[in-house]
Amino acid sequence: MGKMHNMTRKTYRNYIKSALTKDARTFDVIIIGSGTGGMSAASCLAQAGKRVLLLEQHNVLGGFTHTFERAGYIWDIGLHYVGQVHIEGSILNKVFRYISKDKLKWAPLDDIYDRAIFGDEEYQFPRGRENLKAKLKEYFPNQKDILSIDKYFTLLDEAQNMGSGYYIEKTLPPFLSKIIGNFLRRSTLKVSDKTTLEVLRGITDNAKLIGVLTAQYGDYGLEPSKSSFYMHTLLVNHYMEGAAYPVGGASKFAEYIVPIIDESGGMALTQAEVDEIIVEKNSAIGVRIKDGEALYAKTIISAVGIVSTYSQLLSKEVSKRHELDKLLDELEPATAHVGLYVGIKESSTALALKKCNYWIFPQQYDHDKGRTEYKDFNATIPVSFVSFPSAKDPLAEKTHPGRTTAEVIMLLPYGWFKKWKNTKWQKRGEEYEALKEELAQQMFEQLYRVAPQLKGKVDYYVVSTPLSTRHFSKHRQGEIYGIAHSPQRFRQKFLRVHTPVKNLFLSGQDVITGSIAGGTMAGLLCASTILKEHLLWKINKTIK
Ligand SMILES: Cc1cc2nc3c(=O)[nH]c(=O)nc-3n(C[C@H](O)[C@H](O)[C@H](O)COP(=O)(O)OP(=O)(O)OC[C@H]3O[C@@H](n4cnc5c(N)ncnc54)[C@H](O)[C@@H]3O)c2cc1C
Repeated sequence: MGKMHNMTRKTYRNYIKSALTKDARTFDVIIIGSGTGGMSAASCLAQAGKRVLLLEQHNVLGGFTHTFERAGYIWDIGLHYVGQVHIEGSILNKVFRYISKDKLKWAPLDDIYDRAIFGDEEYQFPRGRENLKAKLKEYFPNQKDILSIDKYFTLLDEAQNMGSGYYIEKTLPPFLSKIIGNFLRRSTLKVSDKTTLEVLRGITDNAKLIGVLTAQYGDYGLEPSKSSFYMHTLLVNHYMEGAAYPVGGASKFAEYIVPIIDESGGMALTQAEVDEIIVEKNSAIGVRIKDGEALYAKTIISAVGIVSTYSQLLSKEVSKRHELDKLLDELEPATAHVGLYVGIKESSTALALKKCNYWIFPQQYDHDKGRTEYKDFNATIPVSFVSFPSAKDPLAEKTHPGRTTAEVIMLLPYGWFKKWKNTKWQKRGEEYEALKEELAQQMFEQLYRVAPQLKGKVDYYVVSTPLSTRHFSKHRQGEIYGIAHSPQRFRQKFLRVHTPVKNLFLSGQDVITGSIAGGTMAGLLCASTILKEHLLWKINKTIK
């Protein structure tokens, strides 16, 4: 990726040069990782008066919410749409208002926010439960399918109304969890233990209908036979009332949250790669930066993912004491991806681009088959995703007039890129570059399927691979959603805020689920645990 876009950056090196390290000892909380999981925790803690030091290894803040700029174009990495945030009074709307002190605004996507394209057939996903139900019945009008669709919505409702026991359990101290944890998790596990395919096959034998109902599976990255049905219900319910995009783009998260951290005497630093979490007598007391410098705080939060935290940031001795490697053996990383970022010198309005996403499939509706047959770069692409950030952002015409950005994503395994893992960014060799170009052409083909008017107008493009994700965000296998959302994931009790090390807590997408909402809510749970205060209740009550 190119020039990073961020107005709120302070580098670690400048800080260390200008301030006494001793000063850092007075921080209350050190947070490692500035994704939405780290930032939401930081904002809540800062608003409770804590001095927070947020450390980010990259040269820009935001994790997957960071944006990058090249040749006068700006693209997001990991935010294309978020559900519920645009619905006033919804809990997610209130949470984002709280963590940004009312600064972050959301622009709704079109009422048809997702379009699934199978061969030449398009299936629209409209905003609103009844609208979606009606649309599905329009596509599948036979009586048997109508009954299946009704059953499907009943299952979605049941999952939605299961209560918050599963999440409350994640904040309990381990001794309490041992006593009441299983009870709190019971109803969720009944749903999460089943795969999406298992449940859907229980209500319909129409493979086409299953294909359409799971057309958004890329949002959690696992095909129906492998994903937990609970994850599927979370996702579908999340987007039931449509979706929105942050006004000004995803980098607004950092832009609005960093001043809140500053106001409380804290700070956010880039180029601050943490090498180790310092543990004494089984208590986390600080972090060691890559240059060897140690910074101390009473509380440490790791928001870089559980695998990196347990396998890299904690010493072998700590890991052995708590048998952390055994825990990690039970986890699978989520899928990796390649991305195409395109710039066009014409406005999105002039190009008549829609504020929606496209999920593009080849002819077939069987996502499992599509993924299984996707064995190498030459195989048919099982799914690709296309969207236009500049069309979704109402400020784009002002900040980047006469410019359009498009993004294409394909999900593929990290393993395909492994052989280049020891090469350096931008110096990975001709074979790698040639492959990137081949992938780019495959992705352009998908782009032109939904936006043929862009043909011949491309001014600039760049391709990212799982190695780019690994390089920029340190997710070791280029995974885009942390731990894979399989039934096993939801069984893992150690995916929680507390760790076996005292004063060390986890935030980010591995605690609850992947996604902007999942990562952000984890930050809230983490801050609630540390502050011993029910922040969600407080936010719900105080924000009207
Ligand atoms: C291509 C793509 C598309 C997506 N689309 C959507 C979408 O449309 N909607 C949605 O809801 N979700 C989407 N997601 C998922 C969503 O972006 C993530 O689930 C979420 O942002 C994860 O937040 P996080 O804070 O847990 O992790 P991250 O954002 O990954 O943050 C972790 C941070 O830790 C830093 N770090 C790592 N190691 C260290 C270290 N040793 N020292 C210091 N810092 C370190 C990293 O650099 C990174 O900044 C998408 C993700 C991707 C990649």
